[in-house]
Amino acid sequence: MRLVLLGPPGAGKGTQARLFQDKLGLQQIASGDLLRAAVRDRTPTGIDAKRYMDRGALVPDEVVLKLITERLAQTDAQQGFVLDGFPRTRAQAEALNQMLGSGGAIDRVIALMVPDAEVIKRISGRRTCRNCGAMYHMVFDPPRNLNHCNECNGELYQRDDDAEDTVRMRLQVYAAETRPLLEYYESLGALSRIDGIGRPEEVESRILAAIGPINAGVKTCA
Ligand code: AMP
Repeated sequence: MRLVLLGPPGAGKGTQARLFQDKLGLQQIASGDLLRAAVRDRTPTGIDAKRYMDRGALVPDEVVLKLITERLAQTDAQQGFVLDGFPRTRAQAEALNQMLGSGGAIDRVIALMVPDAEVIKRISGRRTCRNCGAMYHMVFDPPRNLNHCNECNGELYQRDDDAEDTVRMRLQVYAAETRPLLEYYESLGALSRIDGIGRPEEVESRILAAIGPINAGVKTCA
């Protein structure tokens, strides 16, 4: 199965993608994670991308497309995947169609619907593990050990682009560049709009209901 998760920053795309990876065996492919790894490794791509990421702007399409093309070609992506944070522009969506080509299209595009005020509340409390990328919320999902990851004990930090002003910028960019993709995928008959408010398991159930009974069955067997 090939899924795409759309939605503003803080909509819960990463949380849902990880649930789908654990339960359905779909590989989570997050363009933001690929970019942050490039930044951490100080590759030329990462050094270039950081300038855009820090101010909440989109990294140029050709940079993101190169990373995604390489990632989708890896063996573990052949069993199915869930794309998280990609595509974000019409050009990326069209390039994705071309990339998948005869290998089969996207099965479903899930748009997580969350109002801006909720996004700001969620992201301002968000902390990320510097080591493994796990995410926490200081109020709704705090780590057991203050400032350290439950999984690997790595240090938790607030991403530069999770600062409130930058989040407002990211919301504007989402509205201008990415939200139009909802109509694009709707016109292809591939879109399900899902209420993103609620506990992660509630949102997951809504998504499974939208994907259909066959795939919900896979979940039970996994
Ligand atoms: P995310 O972790 O998905 O919120 O992404 C963090 C930042 O990485 C975004 O604010 C962008 O600067 C950049 N980014 C991630 N995915 C993309 C994409 N598909 N196209 C352009 N920029 C991206």
